[in-house]
Amino acid sequence: MHEILFWLIIAILVLDFLFEKYLDYLNTTTMSETLPDEVKGIYDEGKYKKQQAYQRENHRIGIFSSAVSFLLTLAMFLFYGFAFVNNLAWGFTGNAILAALLFFGMIMFASNIIDIPFSIYDTFKIEEKYGFNKTTPKTFVLDIIKGWLVGALIGGGLLALVIFIYQKTQNMFWIYAWILVAVFSVFMTMFYSNIIVPLFNKQTPLEEGELRDAIQRFSDKVGFKLDNIFVIDGSKRSTKANAYFTGFGAKKRIVLYDTLINDMETEELVAVLAHEIGHYKKKHVIQGLLISLIQTGVILFIFSLLIDSPALGKALGVEEPNFHIGLVAFGILYSPVSFVLGIFMNVLSRKNEYQADAFAAEHYKPEALASALKKLSVKNLSNLTPHPKFVFFHYSHPPLLQRLAHLKKFEKEN
Ligand SMILES: [Zn+2]
Repeated sequence: MHEILFWLIIAILVLDFLFEKYLDYLNTTTMSETLPDEVKGIYDEGKYKKQQAYQRENHRIGIFSSAVSFLLTLAMFLFYGFAFVNNLAWGFTGNAILAALLFFGMIMFASNIIDIPFSIYDTFKIEEKYGFNKTTPKTFVLDIIKGWLVGALIGGGLLALVIFIYQKTQNMFWIYAWILVAVFSVFMTMFYSNIIVPLFNKQTPLEEGELRDAIQRFSDKVGFKLDNIFVIDGSKRSTKANAYFTGFGAKKRIVLYDTLINDMETEELVAVLAHEIGHYKKKHVIQGLLISLIQTGVILFIFSLLIDSPALGKALGVEEPNFHIGLVAFGILYSPVSFVLGIFMNVLSRKNEYQADAFAAEHYKPEALASALKKLSVKNLSNLTPHPKFVFFHYSHPPLLQRLAHLKKFEKEN
């Protein structure tokens, strides 16, 4: 049995890698030397050339970094690397929780270290070359260290609790672990902006003035109680711009990047906010939270059926089954399921984006949102001609041209 599982894991890893590279390749087939007709009026000739060059460089480094990570992961399974790390962890301690923390700690740390050169190249070579980078080496190093600390505290804390629950309740652990994850997710959705974001960024309430008044007028009109509009210092790391909605209930807030405010007219900013308010009005935050809770429950339940099977451990070269080795094997075996679920999530997310766009168009001005989206795309050198298959599998937002076509329908009605 464990032989079959072993080869199944290898097959999943190889197929996943090949499929992703195939999608990447498809995306290169829609590149072109000359400005495509459908992009005219958004990009000019010069900006388009720059965007294509930027995309090519990202494509190249993406192939290289994903190939390295694929080969290392494959080697870990082929040469029983996880069994080696497992022995190392049990060499330090006889406690299952500590062993699991050490095991994942070592693996995460190693994979992070391997990632750093790629991240340096991306930030200080590619992003720098195209004028996006604002990250100083100091911020870069601090980000990595803070990321480790947050990951160790939250990831380690949750893992320790889940294993503790498993020790106490065995096969029923999935229900209690589910409750734990549910409580934690709701807590994080509400307090993410208060606890995690301040570690990395400064958020300040949007100051009084023309923009705030315009936003206030709009939110009064659509009956949206708006207390929390924050400006975040995205310019600390990059010139790329964005806006997002987070939290729910009294904790809901809209966050605008300072880089966004600098480049846009008041009307365009209100349109972007109208889109974000649309997400709230259509209950997308709650919807996302509920779906992820259901998925977590299903994952934990299936995992609870398999965790005691010695075959999972043996597939990785470990004779005594244990929680963390089982988790690694299960993680790969489950990935085809999460791949399919991911497709549904992206389809749903793109549908939600259209709904939020429609809300902004109906209650504010479709032209203002269209103009804002165009500006954003050009500023971020977004790919305006992604391959439809790539979009289907990976895009959480519809591509710009489709969103513009959708917004056009509202312009005619008004
Ligand atoms: Zn959106």
